Amino acid sequence: MTKKIIVTGGAGFIGSALVRHLVLDQAAEVVVIDKMTYAANRANIAAAESTGRCRLLVEDICDQRRMADIIASEAPQQVLHLAAESHVDRSISGPRDFIETNVIGTYSMLEGARSYWSGLDAAEKAAFRFLHVSTDEVYGSLGPGGLFHETTPYDPSSPYSASKAASDHLAKAWFRTYRLPVVVSNCSNNYGPYHFPEKLIPLIILNALEGKDLPVYGDGSNIRDWLYVEDHAHALALIVSKGRPGETYNVGGRNERTNLQVVERICDELDRLVPGDRPRREQIKFVTDRPGHDHRYAIDATKLEDELGWRAQENFETGLAKTVRWYLDNPGWWTPLRKSVYSGERLGLTAPQKA
Ligand code: NAD
Repeated sequence: MTKKIIVTGGAGFIGSALVRHLVLDQAAEVVVIDKMTYAANRANIAAAESTGRCRLLVEDICDQRRMADIIASEAPQQVLHLAAESHVDRSISGPRDFIETNVIGTYSMLEGARSYWSGLDAAEKAAFRFLHVSTDEVYGSLGPGGLFHETTPYDPSSPYSASKAASDHLAKAWFRTYRLPVVVSNCSNNYGPYHFPEKLIPLIILNALEGKDLPVYGDGSNIRDWLYVEDHAHALALIVSKGRPGETYNVGGRNERTNLQVVERICDELDRLVPGDRPRREQIKFVTDRPGHDHRYAIDATKLEDELGWRAQENFETGLAKTVRWYLDNPGWWTPLRKSVYSGERLGLTAPQKA
């Protein structure tokens, strides 16, 4: 029987990688619920929609009654909840949307799922899964050593990570209190094709190509643990099918890099593929740090690897090479975004930046 799956936020970056994987590789039937904010793009799911097994519903997850109606009428076996406001810098400039979508929206999805699930028979109830997709940023910042484990206490720093932490707690409470079969995943920083160019890697690729400054926050020593988006999508499909209800799974690629290393690597890759007049590293510009900037994130993904057999297929070098190639090959995707949605200006300073 074809699996029916609801994916919220399926027209965004990670959601669309997941939708493409479920529809194109696993022949699932997917209903995408997406409000189509600035971060969404229908082109991201065009290939999935062209199969006839993917439908987009333009809806706001905060509309609890609509969510309950949609879940009841679509009758999915799985709900994968990714819809969120996702950019830390935007959460600093304007936290309200983050609280609404990430907290209230998650509540609304959990309640919609619970109401539908309560009416299922015992076998359908046992098979149903709600996967709440979250971030490693809920754990706060690491010092030079150690890794985030599933048991690491929550200690979020930004309005974004605080709103995600709140939503994780709701998801876990809906399991403990109502026994709704919820699984939570916490993943490190993603990168790859279709990444909206406000995030570090696509922003640097496009600024580098256009001869613009390459802004590096602070001294560039902040460390992130990078995961290629398709590896994350494969992990999510596995976790929702095989993960145990009530459990958390950390997802990460064991690819720690400082931000400066990431930017330099992009410069070198572009110099190799499309040589310019001067090395692109000369475009690097150190700028005022992000307020509350966490120093280091690093994930221990042993539980996911040992229990569910997941392995990342890409390391940072292979994944980044694919990503740079994709942006070079797809100006038709990003040119309109750079022109009319976001052209690369600085976001997320609490006070005006000094020149
Ligand atoms: P994204 O910003 O690219 O996409 C988010 C999607 O959610 C967009 O399509 C947007 O239109 C939709 N959306 C926003 N508000 C909505 C609302 N009220 N109702 C319906 N849809 C709405 O984000 P992403 O990077 O793809 O992240 C997806 C999920 O993964 C998020 O929950 C995020 O917290 C989590 N996550 C992201 C990363 C990362 O590195 N990007 C890492 C770990 C976890």
